[in-house]
Formats: sequence, C-alpha cells, structure tokens
Amino acid sequence: MLHQIKGLHHVTSLASGAQANNAFFTRALGLRRVKKTVNFDAPHVYHLYYGDEHGSPGSVMTYFPFPGAARGRHGAGEVGVTAFAVPVGALGYWADRLAGLGVTGLNRTSSFGQDRLTFDGPDGDTFALVETDDARAPWTGTDVPEDLAIRGFHSASMRLRDAGASAELLRFMGYEETGRDGDMTRFAVTGGNGADVIDIETLPGAPAAEQGAGSVHHIAFAVENRARQLEVREALLDTGWQVTPVIDRDYFWAIYFRTPGGVLFEVATNEPGFDRDEDTAHLGEALKLPTQHAHLRDVLEQRLEPITD
Ligand code: ZN
Repeated sequence: MLHQIKGLHHVTSLASGAQANNAFFTRALGLRRVKKTVNFDAPHVYHLYYGDEHGSPGSVMTYFPFPGAARGRHGAGEVGVTAFAVPVGALGYWADRLAGLGVTGLNRTSSFGQDRLTFDGPDGDTFALVETDDARAPWTGTDVPEDLAIRGFHSASMRLRDAGASAELLRFMGYEETGRDGDMTRFAVTGGNGADVIDIETLPGAPAAEQGAGSVHHIAFAVENRARQLEVREALLDTGWQVTPVIDRDYFWAIYFRTPGGVLFEVATNEPGFDRDEDTAHLGEALKLPTQHAHLRDVLEQRLEPITD
C-alpha cells in the first residue's frame, strides 16, 4: 500500500465559456483565481485555476473553457460530485447566497452524517458544499465572510457501474474504506491535506457518461515532491497500471493513468506551486503562457475570450 498520496491536488473540468466560469468560481463561490494560463495541448483554450490564497493542493478547481462546447451527459464512468468543505453552520448562508444568484439545482441533503448543499455549476456540473470541521484557511479577498467561506475540497465522488476494481485501486493508493451510506462507499486517506475523501457511487444500470462542458476531465492526487511521485509511478507500473511519463505542467509535475471504471487519475506534485511565476499578491491576474506557446501571445490576447474580473 502506498503512503505518498496526501489527498486531492486539483480537479479539472470542462466548460463552455471563460467569463461565466470565472464569475461563478470567483464571485459566487468566493474562490481566488490563482492562475490564468492556456491549455498545453490547445493553446487557444484557457486553463483557469481557482483555489485558496496560494492555490494550495487540495483547494484547486481548474477548467478548460472551450467556447460554445456542448454539454456532457452525466452517467457511469465519470466523477459525479465535486464537494467543497465549509464550516459547520454555513449552509444556510450558502443556500440563500446561491439562490439569490440564480444558481440551479439547490438541494439540502445529508450524507455520511454530514449536511450538504448540492447545486449546479454553469454548465450543469454537479457540486456540493459539505459542513465539516476543517482547519484550512479560506481565501478572504471576497465578500464571503471568512467564517463561512470554502476551505478547499472536501471530496470527489466517482459514479461507477461496479466499484470493485476502483475500490481496490484506492486501497493500493493508501485510502481506507470508512463507511457506506446507501449506494455510496466512502474512502479516506489519513495524514492528508484536508481534501482526504473519495466516494464511490455504485450505479449498476447507469448509461455511460459522455464528456462535454460540465464534465470533470480528471482528478489529481497530491504528492509532496518529484521523488515521491516517482515512487508512486514505479509502484503503479509494477502493479500493471499504464502510467504516462512525468509531464511538466509548469506549476506541478504530473503523471496520468486511466482507472478501471473510466475515470482519469493524475498524481501531481505540490512543488513548485503557483507562485513560481507571479507574486502571491497578484496570482491569477496576468495571462501566463507555457514557454512553448510564448510566441503566440499577441494572437492569444486578441482571440481568447476577455475575462472581466
Ligand atoms: Zn490535472
């Protein structure tokens, strides 16, 4: 069993428009945009990152907004709910705030004994806020009161027809089953960064998901540094997983592998972080380009959808 994985690092999803996406995460949810850059493989598309003050691993929601992209179809083989942690007692504020902003799909429920508020993202993404004791510091440069603000991720869930092989993989990665609630099985890693929970929702008859705007593209797990990442990569390869080589993503190093249920996993390093090319005070303000796309700056600045902060 691995011991290097310390919870989620980031969650990356697809969107249909940059401005609406930016407004939702910064104005509605009160997160900080910590990086404005472009997709390594499609530089005409933004890669937007939202999180806490520093973009701490375990807090970072990232998006590829493909202009006008068709919505995905939810189903089996994808990430279901991306959940953020908020302090106990905060959901009343959030229900009022999100309703006032016209957010759809608002629903107060309870899962594993924790109160949660589920709601839709701008492209039909499925989110939740979960009340939990969480010592992580929130971003305070927003109108959301500090004692009610999002602390980072609580969990991500996977919708699978059969949980078996993915549960086994999570155990190998260092997660332990901590409970069951209806068709949900909860796994958690000890000693994590706060974003410690993965739920598996077992839906034997569900149609296959189709990826599009509002779909999660992949979830990334955090390791401290490149040495730990190489240990994880070797262990996965030894166990028969097809893992990519290490890829430089400018703000972290990444490896990827496809899990049995269809969800794409990444393992990302906490180093070097989002302040490698911007001061913490100004994270996310300037358009940052990967070195290989730097020569496209003039074209991209003209063609990328303007984002009004
Ligand atoms: Zn990623």
